[in-house]
Amino acid sequence: MSKDIFAYLQNELDSLAKSNNLRKLPEVHHDNNRIIRNGNNMLNISSNDYLGLASDVLLRNRFLEECRDRDYLFTASSSRLLTGNYTVYDELEQHLVTLYGSESALVFNCGYHANTGILPAIADAATLVLADKLVHASIIDGLKLTDSKNIRFRHNNYEQLERLLAHNAHLYDRIIIVVESVYSMDGDLCDLLRIVALKKQYDNVLLYVDEAHGVGVFGQTGLGLAQECGCIKDVDFIVGTFGKALASTGAYVICRSVVREYLINKMRPLIFTTALPPVNIAWTKFIMENLYSFEDKRKHLRSLYENLIKAVKLKTGECNSQSQIIPFVAGESEKAVEMSVKLQKKGFYVLPVRPPTVPQGTSRLRFSLTASITKDEMDRLTEAINQL
Ligand SMILES: *Cc1c(COP(=O)(O)O)cnc(C)c1O
Repeated sequence: MSKDIFAYLQNELDSLAKSNNLRKLPEVHHDNNRIIRNGNNMLNISSNDYLGLASDVLLRNRFLEECRDRDYLFTASSSRLLTGNYTVYDELEQHLVTLYGSESALVFNCGYHANTGILPAIADAATLVLADKLVHASIIDGLKLTDSKNIRFRHNNYEQLERLLAHNAHLYDRIIIVVESVYSMDGDLCDLLRIVALKKQYDNVLLYVDEAHGVGVFGQTGLGLAQECGCIKDVDFIVGTFGKALASTGAYVICRSVVREYLINKMRPLIFTTALPPVNIAWTKFIMENLYSFEDKRKHLRSLYENLIKAVKLKTGECNSQSQIIPFVAGESEKAVEMSVKLQKKGFYVLPVRPPTVPQGTSRLRFSLTASITKDEMDRLTEAINQL
């Protein structure tokens, strides 16, 4: 390693570039659900705006109309534990409790905070955490901060999970299983009912489900996969984020009251940060109040999924996606980049995903659907995929 730190950093960047893995902040302009980059106007198929709410002007105007009589501030000026706990926070949390029929709910600044804060607060040295191999980076970072022993089981491998539970349940005070409902790089789902059944065989096993890509999209009223599976009550920690399908910012956990109170006392990313601005919380609350009414969008998203997965399977032979996130695995990074450039030339903004985000040799195009895509646009996209 070079002694000159800056030369060393440049070297590292050069080798990332050499392997086609150098990241840059893209210079992009937005026009509703379209992206304009280097003069090329493209349909955005890379955002997490799954229901198309972020670009819904009517919805935004309805909100602005509603909050005319309420003077929502643009900053909370403080942590919620000091003076930042505006009434709208309680209103949102109360609404979440009503929606989920849970004991309580707690709102955070983002999913990254939720996942780097909850587990470190509750998982002590007498805890074993069993996390799926493919959980999000924020959970992995959270696990680095825990005092617990942590084991990652093979992705969606419930035989292994069952063995790990059987071997370890009596050795620890408690075990926490950590999974995602929808996996962000493959778009596949966890088998929530099977995990719940496993958990129920023990009285010291808890379940933590990150629904970042599930809320808004799955469930009878859009509350996520746990709602769709009818097992909200069996999940001890449902973590959802507001920044994706829900078109806002922030995150929440659905949990027992005692957990909420404990987190307020122990969770560092809740305590040591300025709360989100009340105006953002009000917008989130508005979205949550209207969530049930987006059923037609969820249905349309589902039909877009059916079309796209058919086209991808025709080219790749297989694809395990069961959600709005659909990967087209290309193999080498170079190939994924090349395909992405081709689709962009045809007006589709699809991005390559490369290591370290995904394992070596599985670089891919990652389609991320939004309900604002029309049937016509989808037909043109599947045609373009066909010609790749
Ligand atoms: C996006 C994401 C997060 C982080 O949420 P933010 O609110 O964007 O910080 C956490 N978990 C998963 C699975 C995600 O996809």
